[in-house]
Amino acid sequence: MTIYDLHCHSTASDGVLSPGELVRRAREKGVDVLALTDHDELSGQAEAGEMALEVGLRLINGVEISVTWGKVTLHVVGLNVDPLDPVLLLGLARNRGGRTERARRIAEDLARVGIAGAFEGASALADNKELISRTHFARYLIEYGAAKNMKSVFNKFLVKGKPGYVSHEWADLAEALNWIHAAGGVAVLAHPGRYQIGRERMRLLLSEFKHLGGAGIEVVTGSHTPEQVPLFAELALEFDLLASIGSDFHAPGEGGRELGRLTALPERCRPIWQAWK
Ligand code: AMP
Ligand code: MN
Ligand code: MN
Ligand code: MN
Repeated sequence: MTIYDLHCHSTASDGVLSPGELVRRAREKGVDVLALTDHDELSGQAEAGEMALEVGLRLINGVEISVTWGKVTLHVVGLNVDPLDPVLLLGLARNRGGRTERARRIAEDLARVGIAGAFEGASALADNKELISRTHFARYLIEYGAAKNMKSVFNKFLVKGKPGYVSHEWADLAEALNWIHAAGGVAVLAHPGRYQIGRERMRLLLSEFKHLGGAGIEVVTGSHTPEQVPLFAELALEFDLLASIGSDFHAPGEGGRELGRLTALPERCRPIWQAWK
């Protein structure tokens, strides 16, 4: 049986392992086909590709694009993208562009509740200075003693209504899909169970996504509860979308899912890799 893990992060975004270390770990965990999907960033692909050759794993070039859909932030994964495609590279650079200013505003908001030095702290934890994410702030807040782990930090900070939350405008859905398609890739809606939208909005999202040429949704992901898996398998069938699977691994021992540690896709799903050579 081939083990697929089509969603994870390296130090090129908010993971803690370098792209090479990540690929090596994936192979050690038994992954056969891995997609590296850093947030709005492709700079890890070359190193990951070299290590994939060395350890005998198939690497899929991927990316996870931040999108603003109405008032909701969504993540769209692009798989099998050309990591050198100029349209995609330009789009991603634009999406990253607002992050530093956003990080300063997050830090200002945290300073108001007495947490000092958050910009410098988060920035120091970010290998890629163009990609300071909430994950880096979360790690800083834990280091600072403001929360004990990732779960509690995102309950107390960095989310709507809590200190350190600032609204931000990312790419729109059509743009993100255009970039992925320009780079020859397929678009997959990441962890749909995480979005705070009701059933009707979810159906609207899936029909819009499909209409724009979206190919699949993540059915099995580190972010879904066991109850959510059949629910999204059903929606995938209803909207004629292929099913993907990914851990969304970021770091060892941080509480997220380990590389490759995923249940199989439900039988009735058509896997996203069915047409891959
Ligand atoms: P950003 O793109 O800067 O808004 O950061 C989003 C990242 O924060 C996600 O990709 C996750 O890695 C992390 N994140 C968001 N919410 C949570 C959560 N509840 N628990 C753990 N990590 C989270
Ligand atoms: Mn992340
Ligand atoms: Mn995500
Ligand atoms: Mn992710």
